[in-house]
Amino acid sequence: MANSLPRPVAAVRNAKLPDGRVVDLSIASGVVSEVTAAGAVSTPEPALDLSGRLLLPAPAEPHAHLDKARSFDAVNPPLGDLGSAIDAWHAHAPTMGIESIVERARAQALAMLAAGITAIRSHVDVLGDGRVSAGDATRGARALAQVREELAGLMDIQLVALAGPHCPDHLVEAVLDAGADLVGGAPHLAPDPAADLARLLALAERRGIGVDLHTDENLFGPVTLDAYARMVRDWPSDRPRTAGHCVRLGTLDAARRDAIIADVKTADLGIVTLPITNLYLQGRDHPVATPRGLAPLRELLDAGVRLGAGADNVRDPFNPVGRGDALETAALLVTAGHLSPEEAYGLVSAGARSVMGLPPAATEAGAQADFLAVRAENLVEAIATAPADRVVIHRGRVVAITETRRELPAMSVVRPHDPPALVPAS
Ligand SMILES: [Zn+2]
Repeated sequence: MANSLPRPVAAVRNAKLPDGRVVDLSIASGVVSEVTAAGAVSTPEPALDLSGRLLLPAPAEPHAHLDKARSFDAVNPPLGDLGSAIDAWHAHAPTMGIESIVERARAQALAMLAAGITAIRSHVDVLGDGRVSAGDATRGARALAQVREELAGLMDIQLVALAGPHCPDHLVEAVLDAGADLVGGAPHLAPDPAADLARLLALAERRGIGVDLHTDENLFGPVTLDAYARMVRDWPSDRPRTAGHCVRLGTLDAARRDAIIADVKTADLGIVTLPITNLYLQGRDHPVATPRGLAPLRELLDAGVRLGAGADNVRDPFNPVGRGDALETAALLVTAGHLSPEEAYGLVSAGARSVMGLPPAATEAGAQADFLAVRAENLVEAIATAPADRVVIHRGRVVAITETRRELPAMSVVRPHDPPALVPAS
C-alpha cells in the first residue's frame, strides 16, 4: 500500500475518552473546533473512525538526548553511575560523524512519533572543550537541526545547547548559532557550581533566550536549584526556564525542600522529572535501602509548580534500556513516583507541553489537535499495557499509524471488560 502520511483529517469519530464518553471531534486549521457525543451531529470529511480506541492528548517529551540515543552498542559502556556514563560518552563522542548522529537521532525521533510523541525538547552536547574548533563542537547541533528540518510538519523539535563546565562561551554560542534554541548545562557537575550557573544564565540573558539546565542530578553534593530560582525570578515571564532531574531536592529535609519549592513556584521555573534514567543512574552506592533518585513529585504538584516528565536517555551510556515511550514513563511515575495514573499521564502530556512553552493539546474545543489513540478501554489499561497499536495525530494530520497482528491458539477467553453473566435470583 502506498504511504499516504501525513494525511489531514477534518474529524475523528467514535473515540472513547478517559472519562468514558464516546465522542466525535471536528478539527479545523489544526485545532479542535467541536466535541460532540458520537453520532449526535454530522461531522466534516475526511474523518477517521477510532472505534475501539481510547483517545488521549498526545504526549510530549520535554527532555531527550537525540544525539546520544541508540549509541549503547557502539559505545559498549560499563553499567554504572552518572560519572562512568559521562566518561564513556566523552571517550566515544570525538569518533562520531554527523551522518551517524543524524541516523540515530532520526530513528529515535520517528520511534517516538510512532509512540505518540508530537513534540520533543532535545539537549545536544556542545562537543569538546577549548581545544576544539567551532566546527567540531557543533557536529551534534548541526545533525539535530537537520533532523528537525526533515521532520518539520510531523513533530515539533526544540534544541538545548548542553554546555559542560569546561565548554567556553564561544563554543556554546556557536551551537546556538547552529540552531539550538535554549542554553543548557549541568552546573552541579562544575568545580564551582554557583559560578557555572551564573555564567550560563548570563549567556542566556545576553542572547535574550531561555534556559533548560540539568539540575542537581545527584543524591549528595551541591544544591543549585535555590540559586537558579532566585536568579530567574525577575526574568520576562515569557522567557523559558526549566530545571531537569532535581534529584537532590528529593533528599533534603522537609523544611529546606519546601522553602526551595516555594522559590521555584515564585520564579515559575518548570521542573522535569526523568524516572527511568535516574532509577538507573542513582543509588548504586546504597546497597541497602536504595533510594529512588526522583524529585519530590507530590510536594511539587501540591505547590502548583509546572511539572513535566520525560524519558531522558534511551539506549545509551546513561541508560541502556527504555523506548522513549510516554506510556513507559507514566507507568514508572505510578510505580516509582506514587502518582495516580491520571496524574502520571498529565505529567507526560499537559505538564510536558507546559514546561516546553507549547499551547495545550487536548480533546476540547480550542486546543491543538494533537492526539494519541490506543487500543485500550481506559487510561489505566493504556498505561499498563502500552499497546503497540497506535494512531498519532499532529495539528489535525495523521502522522503515524502502527498496526500489529497477533495469533494465539484458540481458547475460550473472557475479556476483562465483558459484563458478568446475569445469575437469576433464586
Ligand atoms: Zn539529560
